[in-house]
Amino acid sequence: MRVVQKFGGTSVGSLERIRKTADIVAAELERGNEVAVVVSAMSGETNRLIALAHELNPDPERRELDAMVATGEQVSAALLAIELKSRGIAAYSCNGAQAGFRTDSSHARARIRDVDGSQLIERMQQRAVPVVTGFQGVDERGNITTLGRGGSDTSAVALAIALKADVCDIYTDVDGIYTTDPRIVPQARKMDHISYEEMLELASLGAKVLQTRSVELAMRYKMPIHLRSSFNLVPGTIVSEEDANMERAAISGVAYNRDEAKITVMGIPDHPGIAAGIFGPVANAGINVDVIVQNVSAQGFTDITFTVPRGDYKATLDLMHKACASMQAKDVTGDNTVAKVSVVGVGMRSHAGVAGKMFEVLAAENINIQMITTSEIKITVVIDEKQVDAAVRALHGAFGLEGEPAA
Ligand code: ADP
Ligand code: ASP
Ligand code: MG
Repeated sequence: MRVVQKFGGTSVGSLERIRKTADIVAAELERGNEVAVVVSAMSGETNRLIALAHELNPDPERRELDAMVATGEQVSAALLAIELKSRGIAAYSCNGAQAGFRTDSSHARARIRDVDGSQLIERMQQRAVPVVTGFQGVDERGNITTLGRGGSDTSAVALAIALKADVCDIYTDVDGIYTTDPRIVPQARKMDHISYEEMLELASLGAKVLQTRSVELAMRYKMPIHLRSSFNLVPGTIVSEEDANMERAAISGVAYNRDEAKITVMGIPDHPGIAAGIFGPVANAGINVDVIVQNVSAQGFTDITFTVPRGDYKATLDLMHKACASMQAKDVTGDNTVAKVSVVGVGMRSHAGVAGKMFEVLAAENINIQMITTSEIKITVVIDEKQVDAAVRALHGAFGLEGEPAA
């Protein structure tokens, strides 16, 4: 078998943890498997580096920021390779460029174009273990790029695909994927199995246990992910294609995201082109719009409300004030203290009444819903961020996610 093992920040967070991680790699080799490793920076390191740059300049040049944060992963890759070598294992560290990760040039959120795994495969066949830096690559002009926060998950899955691995093992500080963040609901239940589709929704709706793009990639290439703990060796959660034995409760998880801000453009003369007039400039600024709600028009005027990441709130408000003037809209308002709570489940396709129940549960908690959006397998509401914990706990309980799965 060929295995890619990814170790997150806590699993390489100290020399003691690096020794434990080396034990896990050694055990995999002893099972006769070919192994490639992907590592994150030591926990806290990426934040520390970003903060340093921001002390000099609140908006540092992204190319330089990438050059700097990429060092975090190089340190942990080299440390792990040193430890493995001292155990007689033919390990060697590789940075993104050396491991063949070619990306586009959008610094801090680069996308992987391709990974040339041919050299790594050759060396793995000779029992050598590449220890690859996650989170980074190189663009066509040789600039160092990074893949966005949490990007080592995506590096690991991309490498597993390039190396034609049988599985991508992602080692972290929880022993699996839970029905919701166990930090908010300690009674959350660990899942043995989750489909790509559901995991993709959970991740994109805020469950940061896997970077969304890693799940997208895994789904496209059908690469199974085994998410598990590096602190104990109990089996974790397999993310793979939906199978007939998967649990069929209506809801399989609850996700939340506090990184949301809401903007409303009011009193827009309602005619073709207004949505383009609003969202065109936002897209051109590289800002991702999330939930969108447009009101029915009254007397020829309409309102549009949408959400963006909080870091883009000010920039979006400025853009909307300009758009407002050119479209003769009446006003622009905003709120950067909102959050998003979602229930997710493929079972929703065959269970009616999930939305109704969700709204009742929130009403019973006195939680006001500001926006609603749905897809076939999820329902999302935007609420006041102060009420997130209460909403997540109430929904998790009401949909029977605690303990054993609901029948
Ligand atoms: P790493 O540094 O290993 O990449 P992360 O901190 O990125 O680890 O991801 C693991 C964390 O994800 C857990 O500690 C947990 O608090 C959080 N998390 C959020 N939602 C979930 C969920 N549904 N199941 C498990 N963990 C979750
Ligand atoms: N070190 C990077 C981060 O903190 C990438 C990762 O850990 O996945 O975001
Ligand atoms: Mg992570």
